[in-house]
Amino acid sequence: MSDIQEKTKSAEKPFECRVINYINPVLESAMYGTALDKDIIEFLNGFNHFDFDDHVLSLSKDKVVERVSDAENLFNEFDIRIRMQRLWTRVRQIQPDFEPSPVPFYFIYAGPKTSAKSLSGTAVVVNLGHFLSRANEYSRTQMLEQIESACIHEGVHVLLEQLRLSQRYSDLQEIMKIVWEDGLATFMEFVHDSETVAYYNDVDFWLNVLRDWLRTNGNEKQNERKVAIINRCLQNKIMCKIGQALVKRTRRDLKECKDLDELFTTLMFCSNGPAYHVGRFLWEREISQGGQLPELVKKGSGQVTDWILRLT
Ligand SMILES: [Zn+2]
Repeated sequence: MSDIQEKTKSAEKPFECRVINYINPVLESAMYGTALDKDIIEFLNGFNHFDFDDHVLSLSKDKVVERVSDAENLFNEFDIRIRMQRLWTRVRQIQPDFEPSPVPFYFIYAGPKTSAKSLSGTAVVVNLGHFLSRANEYSRTQMLEQIESACIHEGVHVLLEQLRLSQRYSDLQEIMKIVWEDGLATFMEFVHDSETVAYYNDVDFWLNVLRDWLRTNGNEKQNERKVAIINRCLQNKIMCKIGQALVKRTRRDLKECKDLDELFTTLMFCSNGPAYHVGRFLWEREISQGGQLPELVKKGSGQVTDWILRLT
């Protein structure tokens, strides 16, 4: 390899991912009342069951046009070229020797729910509607930072999928896999979601909860203890509202609940729950104690139980 080739190889890799703007067609449809492309309707629906027609019906047409225009403006302010290069460089730090396949990044408007998602390592979807719904909390600059950080989070999932290290959804009963993977993705963010960061500030409480859960060893005879742990979570001031609603929606009586493990995982996981922030704390701790990020990533989620129990 010549010097020049060597230099090119070691230089920062250009960002190759495609950016797809799905906001603009939605805006045109809202403005002119034209039908949205079927593929886009399905795509939005698959993201968070967002139904654009329902959205138009529930708000006035002017209101929808105003919101989607605002999303289009936010997309234009995002400075794709600089931010995408920068965020991808950050994501690649988890495994610098690995050459990822480029994936498309879709920018959409899908109402206030769900901020972003990775699609099994094949794409990242970012919902600007979510960030705009927090306008009373974030300045415009902060909003753009939150979007960039969310892209980093989903980019980590994409890279882990490509590395075949992603295990998040292989078994919803295994909370520790989520602590490991979403903990890593949250650790790599450079600004954190202000709504859920309270979990991080209460990390000792959640570490205790996870440790006690680990000690039930998935044993069915321990169901009484599991119910007690879940009740402890539901009394926590941060989880309380969302947790109670979740339990109410899914089951009537905890004692009769047959899949306590799945319920516990859902509580820890849903709406960027405690699993993300306990995980972030554990990654920070391992790195601050001299752990090397790429090596720890390669070792996979098996280490996380040890990380938690070591803290006792
Ligand atoms: Zn995640």
